[in-house]
Amino acid sequence: MKLQSFTVLLAITAANATKINPLHIKRQATASSVSTATSATVATSSVPSSSGTSAISSSTTGISTGTTTAVGAPASATWGTSYPPLSQISSGMPSEVTQAVTTTYTAGASPTYYSGADPLPTPFVFNAADWPAQDKLPDTSSSEVQEWMEELDGWDIPDLSPTVDGTCVSDPANVANASARGWWTCGGYTRDTDITVCPGKPMTWGTSFDDGPAFYTTKLLHFLNEQNIKATFFDVGSRCIENPNVLIDEYMSGHEIAVHTWSHPHLTTLTTEQIVAELGWTRKAIKTILGVTPTTMRPPYGDIDDRVRAISLAMGMVPIIWTRTPSGVSFDTFDWEIPGGVVTSEASFSQFEGILGNASTLEDGFIVLEHDLYEQTVDMAIGYTLPAALNHNPPFTLEPIGQCNGIPYTNMYVESNLNTSFPIANGTSDGGIDTDGDGTGDAKSKNSTSSASTSSNGGSTQHTSLSIFAMPLLATLAALVVAL
Ligand SMILES: [Zn+2]
Repeated sequence: MKLQSFTVLLAITAANATKINPLHIKRQATASSVSTATSATVATSSVPSSSGTSAISSSTTGISTGTTTAVGAPASATWGTSYPPLSQISSGMPSEVTQAVTTTYTAGASPTYYSGADPLPTPFVFNAADWPAQDKLPDTSSSEVQEWMEELDGWDIPDLSPTVDGTCVSDPANVANASARGWWTCGGYTRDTDITVCPGKPMTWGTSFDDGPAFYTTKLLHFLNEQNIKATFFDVGSRCIENPNVLIDEYMSGHEIAVHTWSHPHLTTLTTEQIVAELGWTRKAIKTILGVTPTTMRPPYGDIDDRVRAISLAMGMVPIIWTRTPSGVSFDTFDWEIPGGVVTSEASFSQFEGILGNASTLEDGFIVLEHDLYEQTVDMAIGYTLPAALNHNPPFTLEPIGQCNGIPYTNMYVESNLNTSFPIANGTSDGGIDTDGDGTGDAKSKNSTSSASTSSNGGSTQHTSLSIFAMPLLATLAALVVAL
């Protein structure tokens, strides 16, 4: 049964009482300190097996889905970027020398793949006094945070108390109330303002990578660029200020840039001011380095509820999570647990094969959780998961998440965004914005004239559904039918 490996892996993961924060796993050696390492220990080509060889999966034939079959990674990889055999991708694997950025860009260079893009600012120079301490909750009394708090004026931020630790096992009271508070973590509750799929695009993978820009992101970028694959990068502010040239490489190569917080906390555990600080400082880091302000974000661990949603939307950022099937299967590869030795590479790849099998049955395209923070997760992507999707029969189409939702590059950034109903598109008949899914407006409308005609269907959902971002197109089509 195709869901079996998911079920077992989820059970194993849940049973593991210590949830590992990817940012707290021992970091890979820095580029300078690994410069003496040899890459000779890394195979330049391998023949990964799609057989389930791990203890958590008894499958030996991949995931069969009737007319489609997951065939795994290609038998012969010739794509120029080396990666180890699957069994050697582990917590103790030797570190490979990191690669240089694909291209070095100078100040004043502009992206050529979308119009209206501002040129890159003057090169970023790190000054510790300008930024909060890395990987720690920023101080909320700073003038910056107090200024960003004003963006919440006019919004009805739900009065929800922070969760205990952002997990379900520690918080039975909030688990019981998860539907009402729209808590994704415990039950997968979403709202119409969330992006969780690629609406109406079956066999399309809205591809993304989280937690960079990091040491091995460049290796991934070389592969993506070589394959002409574009993805969405959910970047951590603390990483952006230490790897600004990698962030620039992501952006200038045509990948979408989105916010993924400053220190990677469970956002539902924070105060409203702390959430504003986490999002605001990351937004500021990206703006300072790239000259653009993202209009999308992803909550770490997918930990979002109606309070986090309302704050994100008030600050101009649409939440993007990852897909859950109607039966509750989360499209998480658990690649982030390989570096800590919690999950084996074989188990993670088996999980991904299951995701492809499930994705083949969906009417919408899908979004998967993967990471570029660690060498292991990058090797899993370039050696196994991406090739498996590309070599699937029939193949999957890989697109960045904005693109697969019909959102043009211009709308992904405040500076070039000409769409007055994005990022706020969930208008209600009373001219407000419905952030908690009850069908009535509870926040100001950024542009009431453009959004007031769009009504919300309200209510919380546990299933993937047509994104609201398809609504303007449907409304246009409906208008054309009427006109005709
Ligand atoms: Zn993350």
